Amino acid sequence: MSPDARTPMPTGQIVANQFDLAADLLSLESYMRKILQSPFRSVTVEVPVRMDDGHIEVYRGYRIQHNGARGPCKGGIRYHLEADREEVLGLATTMTWKTALVDIPFGGAKGGVQVDPRRLSRRELEAVTRVFTSRISLLLGPYRDVPAPDMGTNQQVMAWLLDEFSKRNGYTPAVVTGKPVSLGGSLGREEATGQGVAYIMEAFARDEGIPLAGGRVVIQGFGNVGAQLARLLHDLGARVVAVSDVDGGLHNDQGLDVPALFDHAYRNRRPVGEFAGGDPITNEQLWRVPCEWVVPAALGGVINKDSNARDLDCRVIVEAANSPTTPVADKILADKGVPILPDLLANAGGVIVSYFEWVQNLQQHPWAMHRVNQELQAKLTTAYEAVRSLVREKGVSWRTAAHAIALARVAEAERLRGN
Ligand code: NAD
Repeated sequence: MSPDARTPMPTGQIVANQFDLAADLLSLESYMRKILQSPFRSVTVEVPVRMDDGHIEVYRGYRIQHNGARGPCKGGIRYHLEADREEVLGLATTMTWKTALVDIPFGGAKGGVQVDPRRLSRRELEAVTRVFTSRISLLLGPYRDVPAPDMGTNQQVMAWLLDEFSKRNGYTPAVVTGKPVSLGGSLGREEATGQGVAYIMEAFARDEGIPLAGGRVVIQGFGNVGAQLARLLHDLGARVVAVSDVDGGLHNDQGLDVPALFDHAYRNRRPVGEFAGGDPITNEQLWRVPCEWVVPAALGGVINKDSNARDLDCRVIVEAANSPTTPVADKILADKGVPILPDLLANAGGVIVSYFEWVQNLQQHPWAMHRVNQELQAKLTTAYEAVRSLVREKGVSWRTAAHAIALARVAEAERLRGN
């Protein structure tokens, strides 16, 4: 892993700070703060795997169910060297607020294995997934806890998870989302997170008069979320002027040839920096590219006071990644008058279509693509408008408003269930 792939501030600390601001706005009781801040269940497992050269490697894995008051726990599984307990807990907590904000009947969870999947062969990746699944399978189930892909995992990993779980429990497609369509996955799931980010950007562009068609966009991360988003924004007429991945980036002020870059980097898994049609840049230089929209779509904590918060030359930040902005950077950007559309809202498209996938699996009735996108847009628009109303009413940031709506819903469910 390159040194700049390290998270500057742990996600857990970022998430805790955001909680306090929203809890204060709601004057939440101290006992309820305790319930909502601590995880319901947290499990650590060893993941021993025989590698291709014959030796046994032992990885560490986590599944943390943060809160299930509003429904089964829901959240992705991340394969990354930094997916330690604190990181996974922060991400699980975010899932609780995200599912509540977009009002789908789930709680929040997250899983992780501390492994660099790029260093594994396909057989080793499958073995890690099967051992990890079998060791957390007691926690899982369509009405208990439903995983999905996250950084470093994909549809194939979810297919292995489904197979491993189903060996003991019978065929259970609703135990995991983000599956291949031929195994009960939903149409539109692969592009759902990017599609959701694009819907939120369209709504904000209309409200604030910031151009999207013709507007300049900078995207960090060119994986599932970043690449799909770039493609969708290009179709809307936006100028994607710079993108990056873990190995570096690319800049072209006239706008990158996104369809060709998508084939090169996303379909053929080549570094974006190797694509002809732009000037190679580093991840540090990416943040200084002038634009209207900055979209972090990789790691947490990447926008921070030490490296880039003061340098950003944009009109709005859209958090496609989870927790990309540290609390101090939040303040610096607020002082500069740069609004931040928070992760809870901006990247919720993935979990919303995961919910649709779960519904389709339980009903054994697949939906057409246009229904998926229509219902996705409706859910996100409702959440966007609720957050916008609170921003205007209370004069708080988009982030605090989104958290306050979510916290209030989870607290209400806790009270109704007896707490
Ligand atoms: P991915 O693994 O498909 O892609 C990650 C991308 O980030 C890759 O291009 C990788 O090279 C790049 N990257 C990694 N470290 C980097 C660094 N230090 N600097 C620059 N680029 C770096 O992951 P993804 O599914 O696209 O997820 C990206 C982000 O979006 C994560 O924060 C994830 O939690 C969040 N998210 C994903 C989904 C989803 O449905 N996949 C949903 C909601 C939120």
